[in-house]
Amino acid sequence: MAKTMAVNAGSSSLKFQLLDMPAEQVMAQGVIERIGMDDAIVTIKYGVETNQGTHLADQSADGSNVTVSQDGQMHKYENVLPIKDHQQAINFMLQKLTDLGIIADFSEITGVGHRVVAGGEWFNHSVLVTKSVLEKIDRLADYAPLHNPANAMGIRAFQKLLPDAISVAVFDTSFHQTMPEENYLYALPYEYYTRYGARKYGAHGTSHRYVAGRAAEMLGQPLADLKLITLHLGAGASITAVKDGKSLDTSMGFTPLAGVAMATRSGDVDPSLIYYIQEHEGLSNEEMLTILNKKSGLLGLSTISSDMRDLLEVSETNDHARLAVKVFVNRIVKYIGQYIAEMGGVDALVFTAGIGENSAPIRQMIIDKLAYFGVTLDATANQTRGQEIEISDQNSRVKALLVPTNEELMIARDVERFK
Ligand code: ADP
Repeated sequence: MAKTMAVNAGSSSLKFQLLDMPAEQVMAQGVIERIGMDDAIVTIKYGVETNQGTHLADQSADGSNVTVSQDGQMHKYENVLPIKDHQQAINFMLQKLTDLGIIADFSEITGVGHRVVAGGEWFNHSVLVTKSVLEKIDRLADYAPLHNPANAMGIRAFQKLLPDAISVAVFDTSFHQTMPEENYLYALPYEYYTRYGARKYGAHGTSHRYVAGRAAEMLGQPLADLKLITLHLGAGASITAVKDGKSLDTSMGFTPLAGVAMATRSGDVDPSLIYYIQEHEGLSNEEMLTILNKKSGLLGLSTISSDMRDLLEVSETNDHARLAVKVFVNRIVKYIGQYIAEMGGVDALVFTAGIGENSAPIRQMIIDKLAYFGVTLDATANQTRGQEIEISDQNSRVKALLVPTNEELMIARDVERFK
């Protein structure tokens, strides 16, 4: 049977999902963390997803263990061991998938799809990886220094270990390549655009593309006829105006630092304020970027936590937590307003990612501020977590939908198109 691997390689981690295609059935998924360390952690889940509790089934001599759900359906393999690089990590993972009987041998995997963060203006759709594609991904490292080199490393390692499998690059930015120039250009001297590609590229494109497609199916209308606002609200958060099935505008910018306030990222800030703070605090460019990326957003404002769950838990009693939540919601509402104006209306709001899929209070706070546009909530449906459902009530002129994202499936489908 032909299997496809969807891969998200980071600098010290590698997430993967193995799917049986075209059946779109998940065979296994997992993550290898702390690559490069003596105590790297390998986790592989396989079998049927279940909500039942687990018990320890097997502890083997190499220190690994496998836990099994009470109904015997879901298995979880875990091990801690030294792993020196991505190649070794992938080799170990493939070997383990074989030992666990998930694949008979490596050759069963006929395609590998890789998430690549920056595709610049070179890639407006997913592509088969050739030597020249790989060179371009390397050259785009300037746009995503933390991500593209790791993505490229993942591609090379898989190509060595699975030389017969096709390799496809799926870019976070490509969905947004349809934005018109009045939306992607900054009002800076034009020569910076031509010289450096200084423009808005956006991110989370695979997620926005997936949930927009699902929303159209749920609404029973062609995507090309709809005006949607897709809200990917995770630790990283971005909002996209999807018109005629295409990204018309998106909140992230040249990098994923722009847009709404996020877990630790500031989102939009007046650029001259950054210079002012740097001067007064004596901060280097590097230090300032770290503050904007890692110490701002929910964490910076709340001073407590970057995790929305922590903030909601104490927001009744803690002023800083409440303020951070208010700012988070307020920025999102402003973007929604902008995009309704830009599209000349909206048919549906689509909530996804960690906060969008799981947090009823945040969805409610956002929707409560949109009464003017004719969005009204079904309070019971809104209590749903992590499953597709319409959360607006019957009288709502604008629909609100909850759609769990599935970037891995989107990647696997893109691979399928090249097989
Ligand atoms: P990313 O992929 O950007 O790392 P996720 O989409 O996994 O992030 O989302 C992670 C975020 O989701 C965390 O910041 C966490 O606070 C939030 N989250 C998860 N579950 C809930 C919940 N029940 N209520 C509120 N926030 C939640």
